[in-house]
Amino acid sequence: MSALSPARRAVIDLEAFRSNVRTLAEAAAPAETMIAVKADAYGHGMVPMARAALQGGATSLAVLDIPAALTLRDAGIEAPLFAWLHGPDSDFAAAVAARVDLGVSALWQLEAILAARGSARPRVHLKVDTGLSRNGASVQDWPGLVRRAVEADAAGELHLHAAWSHLADASVEDDEAALARFLEAVAVAEDEGARFPLLHLAASSAGLRMPAARFGMVRFGIAAYGISPFDDATGADLGLVPAMTVESEVASIKRVPAGHGVSYGLTYRTEGESTLALVPLGYADGVPRVAGPRASLLLNGRRFPIAGRVAMDQVVLDVGDHPVAVGDRVVMFGPGTAGEPTAEEWADWAKTIGDEIIARVGHRVQRVYRNELPS
Ligand SMILES: *Cc1c(COP(=O)(O)O)cnc(C)c1O
Repeated sequence: MSALSPARRAVIDLEAFRSNVRTLAEAAAPAETMIAVKADAYGHGMVPMARAALQGGATSLAVLDIPAALTLRDAGIEAPLFAWLHGPDSDFAAAVAARVDLGVSALWQLEAILAARGSARPRVHLKVDTGLSRNGASVQDWPGLVRRAVEADAAGELHLHAAWSHLADASVEDDEAALARFLEAVAVAEDEGARFPLLHLAASSAGLRMPAARFGMVRFGIAAYGISPFDDATGADLGLVPAMTVESEVASIKRVPAGHGVSYGLTYRTEGESTLALVPLGYADGVPRVAGPRASLLLNGRRFPIAGRVAMDQVVLDVGDHPVAVGDRVVMFGPGTAGEPTAEEWADWAKTIGDEIIARVGHRVQRVYRNELPS
């Protein structure tokens, strides 16, 4: 990022993140804690968050796909890595060589891994669909997948390490039904001769509120970033601290008369004579355009609503007669402890979830890390 670019920063507090991971690991214990660093660690930057997760007590990392796992290996991370979303062109040979644990949802994936393994013995986690209807073997396909894995394990070709699934985070009854389907699938697999060293099912939501779903490991994601997986509790209610603060600086100011139109479409008009402050954050940086009419940003200790439409690169704040200068710090969201909005408030304004707010912070926003520990 050029030093001449307008300032747009995502300041990431690694101590807040480590503290969240410690809190979650304690809640999950004796189950182990895997931390999801997929989607560039929910927009926070994968490599620093992976290191911090391990420093906070995670024993493994969930990366989604093989390229992300290889990036972490290249960065020197030795912990177990779990990748589970594959395509026909996935580089299973590279994954096996890098000792990446592989989630397997279909027979073709298992055959491709066996064909690519060379003389190595990869660790596989067989996934069953318990109702989310994404990947995971269907109930019909499950016994055949298990049978092939049991046979390959017995032949010394792989380690059949785990059975797993993912919940829909629906009603308590729906998630209980999914848990029952999971236990049923494990029983079917055991009838086929499988002996799983590990079972895993829960992500943040069930990891916190559904103890029966914790099994040997919880795959925590959003909660580790300090954002609640629940509608009825904030991250703060759960003892979590949002790790990311998105901030910028006022890029220009102007004094305008009453009735002055602002931004595309001139959908906003000043009520009286007023000062407008331009902030160089727009929807390309992750400010949801749809949130514009409800959203506000923190500037000089007060929240000011966005005046008019969110543009690609900027928003305008109507600050009235409040003093403001070019270069004053503006906060889009953060932990909420200094009056700034949280990502959860942005989620309400944009009718989405906090996960989407943080994961969509644009790549033009420079990530800056605080409280980094030596690895
Ligand atoms: C993203 C993801 C997680 C983490 O989910 P959160 O709800 O963010 O905690 C866990 N497991 C799988 C398979 C995932 O895709």
